Amino acid sequence: MINIAIDGPAGAGKSTIARRVAEQMGYIYVDTGAMYRAMALYLLRSGVDAGDMDAISARCREADITLTHENGEQNVLLNGENVNGLIRTPEVSQMASISSVNGDVRARLTDLQRKLGREQNVVMDGRDIGTVILPDAQVKIYLTAQTRVRAQRRYLEMIQKGETADLDQIEQEIIERDYRDMHREIAPLKQAEDAVLVDTSEMTIEEVTDRILAIIREKTA
Ligand code: C5P
Repeated sequence: MINIAIDGPAGAGKSTIARRVAEQMGYIYVDTGAMYRAMALYLLRSGVDAGDMDAISARCREADITLTHENGEQNVLLNGENVNGLIRTPEVSQMASISSVNGDVRARLTDLQRKLGREQNVVMDGRDIGTVILPDAQVKIYLTAQTRVRAQRRYLEMIQKGETADLDQIEQEIIERDYRDMHREIAPLKQAEDAVLVDTSEMTIEEVTDRILAIIREKTA
């Protein structure tokens, strides 16, 4: 199986790029962030306090998270319910960032992620894919961009959807999520030694996609 791992900080464009690359290659796209988000939604619905790690450890066992794929789109199912439309809120982002520090939460999701990589050609994006989940991936990309640029992209996305947004606040949230992801004890976000760094600050989506397709061709030739 061919495994392509794309890691990087919040808002670097991983999901947009990974989806396009998967489409071009005819591979399955696996968005692992969506799994952490579905878990966070379950915890929020259960009324668990974000600061209560014991409660998070106990309640996360009740959440059964699975993925299905239809026409190139990933559906994330939480105890059988498709929650795709419910997991992109700031509240869920915040809870996902906090609960993903928890070892029991991570253990529940990592088995499924590894299994997907063993069974299918995948483009998988997340924070620990190249380092922990798929350490033998044939291609590893570390996708990043300057913090302000990432915040601006999120801001534009929200404005285009007709939502209200505050650029400084978005930037602050990104900084906090990155800090938590990079400094946690288990599976922190970092560039794998054999990953190729792609800084997208001054690149368009097409340029980034082409660059990654070129890296894949080179590595899998
Ligand atoms: O990528 P996305 O922003 O959807 O991820 C939501 C949160 O899930 C991240 O802030 C991160 O804390 C967590 N995450 C993780 N490991 C992954 C993917 C996401 O810890 N492989």
